[in-house]
Amino acid sequence: MAQEDVFKKVVSHCKEYGFVFPSSEIYDGLAAVYDYGQNGVELKNNIKQYWWQSMVLLHENIVGIDSAIFMHPTIWKASGHVDAFNDPLIDNRDSKKRYRADVLIEDQMAKYDEKIDKEVQKARKRFGENFDEALFRETNPRVLEHKQKRDALHERFAKAMNDNDLAELRQIIIDEEIVCPISGTRNWTEVRQFNLMFKTEMGSTADAASTIYLRPETAQGIFVNYLNVQKTGHMKIPFGIAQIGKAFRNEIVARQFIFRMREFEQMEMQFFIKPGTELDWFAKWKEWRMAWHQNLGFGAENYRFHDHDKLAHYANAATDIEFNMPFGFKEVEGIHSRTNFDLGQHEKYSGKSIKYFDPELNESYTPYVIETSIGVDRMFLSVICHSYCEEKLEGGETRVVLRLPAALAPVKLAVMPLVKKNGLPEKAQEIINDLRFHFNCQYDEKDSIGKRYRRQDAIGTPYCVTVDFQSLEDDTVTLRWRDSMEQKRVKISELQGIIEDNVTITSLLKKLK
Ligand code: ATP
Repeated sequence: MAQEDVFKKVVSHCKEYGFVFPSSEIYDGLAAVYDYGQNGVELKNNIKQYWWQSMVLLHENIVGIDSAIFMHPTIWKASGHVDAFNDPLIDNRDSKKRYRADVLIEDQMAKYDEKIDKEVQKARKRFGENFDEALFRETNPRVLEHKQKRDALHERFAKAMNDNDLAELRQIIIDEEIVCPISGTRNWTEVRQFNLMFKTEMGSTADAASTIYLRPETAQGIFVNYLNVQKTGHMKIPFGIAQIGKAFRNEIVARQFIFRMREFEQMEMQFFIKPGTELDWFAKWKEWRMAWHQNLGFGAENYRFHDHDKLAHYANAATDIEFNMPFGFKEVEGIHSRTNFDLGQHEKYSGKSIKYFDPELNESYTPYVIETSIGVDRMFLSVICHSYCEEKLEGGETRVVLRLPAALAPVKLAVMPLVKKNGLPEKAQEIINDLRFHFNCQYDEKDSIGKRYRRQDAIGTPYCVTVDFQSLEDDTVTLRWRDSMEQKRVKISELQGIIEDNVTITSLLKKLK
């Protein structure tokens, strides 16, 4: 199936099975805002738990907080967001569509990469087993030509972004002959900066002083509380503070479903360290965060690092962890070495000293910070895209199955009486009443067993238990595993142990090295 079709199917599957709904749907929706349904919220909560526990339970020196969305407006002045949290936008005069100039250029670079990949694929077919891909990439004239164009574009783009040169960004779009995907024309406006923060007013007077922002990242709530936590928690450097919460950005182009939203959720951890140690910690956190992702079992080939050319004003090293989405490798998480920029700025703007006293060195300093920042919604999207699977069964039937990692699945166990009478529903309820304290269970007695299995496959339920007449006699049931559809007869008393070993967040955490 073409990747584009996979993506469309994932989007409609999410709606049909109660994972994600467009917000305010009965009023025709609100652009780039989504609601999570009954299954979506469970999956989302499991992702959050996997992250939270891996940070806060597995690291003695990391604690959590939950700071408010509204913060003093000067915080956003100090952090640089008021002046510099901008995206370069450009409009096409014919289609009246608005684009991010940097994204148009990045897409153009991806096109050169695609051309190179096509050449490689063609050659692989032609040469078969004897194909030496590395040699081909180094010597083939067409590959070299595409690569040279791509590299030149990349260099020019990186410089324009670093210099904040909006005229040059526009010129690149013109020179590369990039057209609007809707109108097909090159009738572009100038490039302008657009601030992504939402503003609102606090209190009853609408003067400038009452303007506040919806936070565009959760990180600042951690920075302004770091000394509170350090002092009350007696934390010693190095230590980290983790937080999960909503963030808001008025994205210019919202697209790709929950990939780019205007209201979304972040899981951020700021790790406070001694100045000079930041590059070592940066390398460690890169490794740990990649291990966390790969622990889900989606295959190492589906992840890659993308080191930043253009460093944000506060960073001295930055990388993204990208996942192979149906629309290409895309950022899911950012890891940034933020130096002492944020804490230094808050000291300056608040006029208060927030230095850390290091008892070992017997001196005070402003700590450096490594940040790991991941979007819950993007993580959700990567999990669901990778898990969605249409499978041909013997007999020609197709089943849609979500091969979710069992620990993330919304429902862990469905209990089904074979028929709706003769004491089977009561027996099934008995099992649920016992197991519901341990994991999320669902009772289902409607339709044929086959249909019920399909329903559970479609929401990714790892286990189904069927209660039949034999169950009444010997307290055994059939236990069906989602992926292989294999069924085996087990004692009711053994169910909890078998299932728990595979479906808890703890089981996933134990696999983390
Ligand atoms: P992008 O380049 O895609 O706009 P970013 O580099 O601005 O993302 P960060 O500021 O590093 O993103 O935010 C950290 C994480 O928050 C991202 O890796 C992503 O998972 C998530 N995130 C950022 N913006 C959005 C959004 N509009 N919708 C959903 N998730 C987002």
